Amino acid sequence: MKYPAVENFVAGKYIKGSGGSLDVNSPIDGSKISEVTLSNYSDLDKAVSAARTAFESWSATPIKERTQVLFRYRALLEKNMKELSELVSEENGKTLSEAQAEVEKSMELTEFACSMPQIASGEILEVSKGVECRVERYPVGVVASIAPFNFPNMVPNWTIPNALVLGNTMILKPSELVPLSANRLAELLKEAGLPDGVFNVVHGAKETVEAICDHPGIDTVSFVGSTKIAKLVYIRASSNLKRVLTLGGAKNHLLVFPDAHVEMTASNVAASMSGCAGQRCMAAASMIAVGSVDHIIDELCKEAIKIIPGVNLGSVISKAAKERIEGYITEAEKEGAKVLVDGRNSVVKGKENGFYVGPTVIDNVRPEMRIAKEEVFGPVIVIIRTDNVDEALKIQHSSHYGNASSVFTQSGGIARYVSEKASAGMIGVNIGVPVPREPFSFGGWNESRFGVGDITGKSSIEFWTKLKKITTKWNPESKVNWMS
Ligand code: NAD
Repeated sequence: MKYPAVENFVAGKYIKGSGGSLDVNSPIDGSKISEVTLSNYSDLDKAVSAARTAFESWSATPIKERTQVLFRYRALLEKNMKELSELVSEENGKTLSEAQAEVEKSMELTEFACSMPQIASGEILEVSKGVECRVERYPVGVVASIAPFNFPNMVPNWTIPNALVLGNTMILKPSELVPLSANRLAELLKEAGLPDGVFNVVHGAKETVEAICDHPGIDTVSFVGSTKIAKLVYIRASSNLKRVLTLGGAKNHLLVFPDAHVEMTASNVAASMSGCAGQRCMAAASMIAVGSVDHIIDELCKEAIKIIPGVNLGSVISKAAKERIEGYITEAEKEGAKVLVDGRNSVVKGKENGFYVGPTVIDNVRPEMRIAKEEVFGPVIVIIRTDNVDEALKIQHSSHYGNASSVFTQSGGIARYVSEKASAGMIGVNIGVPVPREPFSFGGWNESRFGVGDITGKSSIEFWTKLKKITTKWNPESKVNWMS
């Protein structure tokens, strides 16, 4: 085992959970690199006690002082970039450059948190002569953040810097498939001067998540993962009267028009569908070809074959994921779809036990096929052909997801029409992965997100704080006394 067993990080120390352990395998070559402890309610309870105790002094620390810890954390992310990126790549399977981009994004998220003293201050107004209303922000309390496997470093950092700088204390529950990065983040936060107990990591799977939803000592739950579990967590945690925001899965449609810039469109679509081996909630899943776009599809296939497993394409997360993805392709082919570029049965020399799927482009897919409707979560794009923009939008609307959608065209009118009519929270115009950068916030619509507001950026400030409204009358000299 390359790494020691992964334990919970509670009040600044490592402790073992009491629910047994799971092997952690690198999807790059299938080898066991560590094992992770699993936690039950009583293990979680220890973290909640630590976070509750730490909340008293952390929430009372001025925001400018809290921000100083985050400045140092950002510097440590940069200093340890190489090691953090290698860890992400090893436990998740993505390429080293994709892993590095993830850590860079974590730095950007932290930079945004460092601007909180400037943008999250309260408000004050003299509402009538001698009477002042002021609004102050308070942290919500102990918050939990539950993360998926696909971004072991970045998704935890969607929540950590903002929640902490705004005065909350946190329990992170990473995916049991990629538990190593989370503990390194905990160590770096400690090194940055974060007091013990402010940030804790509890490892586990279903039982641990259910304990988080039920524990009365947790005020707020955020979740990022599949729609199936996002719904369960939303219902269970909110039925326990917690503030909840859960982000779910995706099926992103790219609408491609004949006038689109050929090379730019082809390379953007190829990169969107294959980046992080297609395991991104922002990945292109369906290309809706509006009219005659064969010239763009030809170019897309040329781009796709330049994407080589083990070189510029990482592995998918597990054997089960590889089998699921290849199963979708085979089923579509049986139903009459045409596989233009086939990524099934990919083997990387020297990494024969790794879980690789090559880039796959499938034409003549019909909207009612399973591969057109469900989240495949692999480096696969389906092409659905249609004649006009309204038909294309109808297909986009038929999805119960609504994370992102993009339009590729040189026409401003079409771009604006699609941006307005597409039912998704994030829209790209000639961009395949339309992730909003800070200070703008990240979040989808429909069954890609449950709850109010977004998880990052300015919108998240409302989620991590509660408002206190103070009305004050000081000066009897003004001789206005209508407000008793
Ligand atoms: P997942 O839903 O299987 O797991 C997410 C978390 O839930 C993990 O921490 C896991 O331990 C826990 N979990 C799993 N099964 C559970 C159960 N039965 N009860 C309670 N908790 C459970 O998701 P994943 O496979 O880790 O991640 C991939 C999914 O995440 C994809 O659907 C992807 O689209 C989605 N995702 C969405 C976004 C977004 O912003 N909308 C971002 C990243 C990933």
